[in-house]
Amino acid sequence: MSLGRRGFLQFCLGAGAGITFSPLPWKLMDDSAIWTQNWPWTPVPPGGEVSIEKTACTLCPGGCGITVRKVKDRAIKIEGMKGHPINDGGVCLLGMSALYKLYGGARIKGPLKRAGKRGEGKWEQIPWNAAIAEISKELNQKRQDGLSHTVASMTGTDRGTVPQLFKRLLAAYGSPNVFTAPSLQDSERLALKLMQGDYASAGYDLENARYVVSFGASIIDGWGSPVRAFRAHTRWAEKAAEGAKLVQVEACLSNTAAKADTWLTIKPGTEAALALGLAHVIIKEKSYNKAFIRDYCLGFEDWQDSGGTVHKGFKQSVLKEYSPDAVSRITGVPADRISVIAREFAQAKGALAVWGRGKGTRPMAVHDIMAIHALNALVANINKPGGVTVLPDVTTVPWPSLVQDDIAKSGTKQPRVDRAGTDAFPLSESLFDQLPKLIKGGTGEYPLSVLLVHGANPYYTEHDRTAVAEALDRIPFIVSFSSRMDETANHADLILPNHTSLERYEDVPTPISSSLPVMSLSRPVVSPQCDTRHVGDSLIAIAKSLDGSVAESFPWDDYESLLKATLGDKWSVLEKEGYWKDEGYTPADWSQAFRNASGKFEFLATTLLAGAKSAKDCLPQYSRAKLKGEEFMYPLILIPCESMRLADGPVANSPLMTKTVADTVLKNDDLCVEVNPKTAIAHGLTDERMALLSTPKGKAKVKIHLFDGIQPGVVAIPTGLGHTAYDDYLKGKGVNSNDLIGMIEDEASGLDIAWGSRASLKSI
Ligand code: SF4
Repeated sequence: MSLGRRGFLQFCLGAGAGITFSPLPWKLMDDSAIWTQNWPWTPVPPGGEVSIEKTACTLCPGGCGITVRKVKDRAIKIEGMKGHPINDGGVCLLGMSALYKLYGGARIKGPLKRAGKRGEGKWEQIPWNAAIAEISKELNQKRQDGLSHTVASMTGTDRGTVPQLFKRLLAAYGSPNVFTAPSLQDSERLALKLMQGDYASAGYDLENARYVVSFGASIIDGWGSPVRAFRAHTRWAEKAAEGAKLVQVEACLSNTAAKADTWLTIKPGTEAALALGLAHVIIKEKSYNKAFIRDYCLGFEDWQDSGGTVHKGFKQSVLKEYSPDAVSRITGVPADRISVIAREFAQAKGALAVWGRGKGTRPMAVHDIMAIHALNALVANINKPGGVTVLPDVTTVPWPSLVQDDIAKSGTKQPRVDRAGTDAFPLSESLFDQLPKLIKGGTGEYPLSVLLVHGANPYYTEHDRTAVAEALDRIPFIVSFSSRMDETANHADLILPNHTSLERYEDVPTPISSSLPVMSLSRPVVSPQCDTRHVGDSLIAIAKSLDGSVAESFPWDDYESLLKATLGDKWSVLEKEGYWKDEGYTPADWSQAFRNASGKFEFLATTLLAGAKSAKDCLPQYSRAKLKGEEFMYPLILIPCESMRLADGPVANSPLMTKTVADTVLKNDDLCVEVNPKTAIAHGLTDERMALLSTPKGKAKVKIHLFDGIQPGVVAIPTGLGHTAYDDYLKGKGVNSNDLIGMIEDEASGLDIAWGSRASLKSI
């Protein structure tokens, strides 16, 4: 058998992905554990009773169930929970890292008050009652000054009980400024609201899908629950003889691209154009589901407005603008390949188009998601086995009514400082990415005075990080609830450390991409190791210490009683099994599925019509991104490259994860960027030599790694490195890609949809 270059790359990368889920690393770890027992300084767990506890992993939105093996009160091993509806026994490297988060470095051992300049790392330890009193004094003063609306919170997600507690605290106190870290969910929910009338997340029946076109989603490398997606991929491979297939659309040869049946290399940021090119072929050849389009869709055909003007529908718009030749010029994908993929997609049973670049954590343009989702509508694979569905939230017991005094009522009526929900961005609920621009330019409605941060690390994770840091530094009082000394905690004025994931209760709502409603319960499996408190308990204590009617909205003694009360009869199931799933869930049939005013799947988003410049703006479409910088100065395109071995969200890498990173990604402390050999020749770059990477947002010294699996003219930079906080295992290693990539604003939502940047590379 001959093995060509592509085959070789597939083999190597596929093996890498496979190893992540295979028993091999665990065996090696067992071996090294046995070996290291001979080191005198290795901590040896005490002998004693062994027990196994069920809990849920909260280190990413994947929602996996895990089991923790313990000796007495010492957690010693984490494994995937067998039978869990999401991961059924699998666990990823990050999930295993919970032990390190519990026992490893950079833990904040008790409440801290800043003693030096911001970011200097000088702290004074204070007791809990003093920490609560500090916040209480600050917040009460703002209420007295009529400035309650200048207090804001930022959480990593808006799902689950803790984010709801933050929302409630701000509402009872008197501020509308509740932010969540920007995520794919923000844009996905908007797209689904526009097309299907539900502001909700998409669920994919990956297990039963048979022809999956992934528009940049790293299906087996960190997207959704990677453990679940990897299993689904194994099933597709088993069904290959029946035509099961994964088509990966991506600019570089990621693990997912390497394992895919077809890898379509594409110019970065043009995925929506490709989706519309596929739609063109399907429509032109009349291979779409005509009954579904006729009976359950709106805006496919041309239509007439109340003034009698005729507007193009989706069909004519796509036929006119997105021929394979035109799309080939935009995307770089050959026209004949576009036609072949379109035909296969239209003919397959269980054809599924998936959005969400990389791990699917960053927002995308709303119209891009609409373009990709339009493919699911053309083949009518909505609310069917192997298709996409809009998942309902798991029902819980309603919370007691919110009590608001006059200050709270007046404060919450103020406009949000990020302009979400205003005339500027009427559809969006939270636009944290707008803040740097607004705060720095002084164009916000008013300055913020206090920021409470939980489960987010904006000083590290947001694009144009320098601008974010400058803007946040202008907020006089920042409170962090982090359990580890991340970049944001390091810039805070006060830290009220939360328990780590293995020390606390947490409800884990239906994870991203799940095909049925699921809830899991993260539980304290060991006693708190430090003088930390559950963030929910801290919030309840803060609420009870505030003036006015704030405390009346918080009748619970502590977070655990709140969780028990609101989870109702699900609590006992969650306690026993570790998860609850809606066994009988079946997606609504098409006559009930679409909950917008038309009751139909809307290719033409009628909600947008009133404020749109033209009717065309209400259809799925591709818009060329306006990248900053001149092409002659920045002739290359820089794209972020995500990996399962590098956590790049609010939870950072453990030393174990960093140890698995290849030398071609991080060599000593130098970050390597992937460059095609043709690019290297054109720009005078040499393999393994240092170069200066410049973008309109910053510069960084990087090492060149020549790689055939990246398009000429494109440079891939790994994400998840370049920390300036945490411990010696993370700090100062590599470069933070967010320093080099600036914001690209989505006109429809105001979200930052940046997928890359113009760049240059010069040998040094
Ligand atoms: S995929 Fe996410 S939730 Fe699942 S084990 Fe890994 S980190 Fe935990």
